Amino acid sequence: MDQLEVRVPGPTPLPPQVRQALSRPMVSHRSQAFRDLLHGLDLRIRPMLGTQQEVLFLTASGTGGLEAAICNTIEAGDRVLSLSTGYFGERFAGIAARYGAKVDYLRARPGATVDAGAVAARLSTASFRAVLVTHSETSTGVLNPVGEIARVVNEASNRPLLLLDGVSSLGAVPLAMDTLNVDVVVTASQKAWMTPPGLAMVALSDRAWERASGCTSPRYYFDLAAARDSAPRGETPWTPGVSLLYGLEAALGLMEAEGFERVTARHLRLAARVREGLVQLGFSLVAAPGFESPTVTAAYLPAGVEAHQLTACLERDFGIQIAGGQADLKGRIIRIGHMGYIGEDNVTNLLRSIESALALIREEVR
Ligand SMILES: *Cc1c(COP(=O)(O)O)cnc(C)c1O
Repeated sequence: MDQLEVRVPGPTPLPPQVRQALSRPMVSHRSQAFRDLLHGLDLRIRPMLGTQQEVLFLTASGTGGLEAAICNTIEAGDRVLSLSTGYFGERFAGIAARYGAKVDYLRARPGATVDAGAVAARLSTASFRAVLVTHSETSTGVLNPVGEIARVVNEASNRPLLLLDGVSSLGAVPLAMDTLNVDVVVTASQKAWMTPPGLAMVALSDRAWERASGCTSPRYYFDLAAARDSAPRGETPWTPGVSLLYGLEAALGLMEAEGFERVTARHLRLAARVREGLVQLGFSLVAAPGFESPTVTAAYLPAGVEAHQLTACLERDFGIQIAGGQADLKGRIIRIGHMGYIGEDNVTNLLRSIESALALIREEVR
């Protein structure tokens, strides 16, 4: 295969316009050309996060963005409530624990979401500095009900900060950050934003900024106050991934041309097609009905087929890369990313290829 089709839940395919932008000549990151670029990106991403807060750009993968969210708001001894629905929820909580937080967990079994009522009950038992939630849990293909969770967090006495991992949702799933009072939002370039890995985008509420100024956790590269101080000048405190920012600019152009509402509707439509197609082929979905992520689908395999057989056959014979499970779900499921630069034809080809791969595997077994 000369060209692989990447259908993992990040990194995602790059549109030709983005690939071209990535190869633009370098410019100084202390120049007017760069200032215009950074200002423009900030203003254009805000509506897709539902915020009027400044969007900050960190040269880091999504995990770097999560670490920035934690180390600017959480310090040793803080009580934190983790609403963990899988591998990425555990990662977010693990970062908080590493910074010395006392982490309480409300966990859901794979495919389920955390119930807002249970969150309210837990919040009434103690005072928490923050609640951590994953928007789209990429390990199970579940979309957590951020609106409901935000409501109970807002109603809690001693209202904690609400920190959201929106790495695999934002850019494809709308969020009303300001209306819902979400305090820290994190996303990353290589998921729905159609840009290579390496950029994390972070936005903070006024309350989160206030907390950051008093937070004693050590931080240097990820000190968001430094990023905020540089932003009005159209600069970043350290040398940024200039090419990635050009790529993101091109990607935003495509999203704006399509219209953000159409982008989100396309993701819903394609996700439904992937789920229906997989069920028809004998898979069963990990996500509970009504909580399916529009960007990633996880599924248990039909009887007699192993996850590694399917992923290997798809790559070898059809040039398509999909992902397996993580942690406890390793070897038990497949995961498909359908976010960013993807259309109807890609889904048709994907489902046909999976059907053919299943037939090939069963033939080999017989
Ligand atoms: C991809 C992803 C991350 C970040 O992973 P990196 O490899 O550090 O970019 C974090 N959270 C979720 C939900 C993700 O899907």
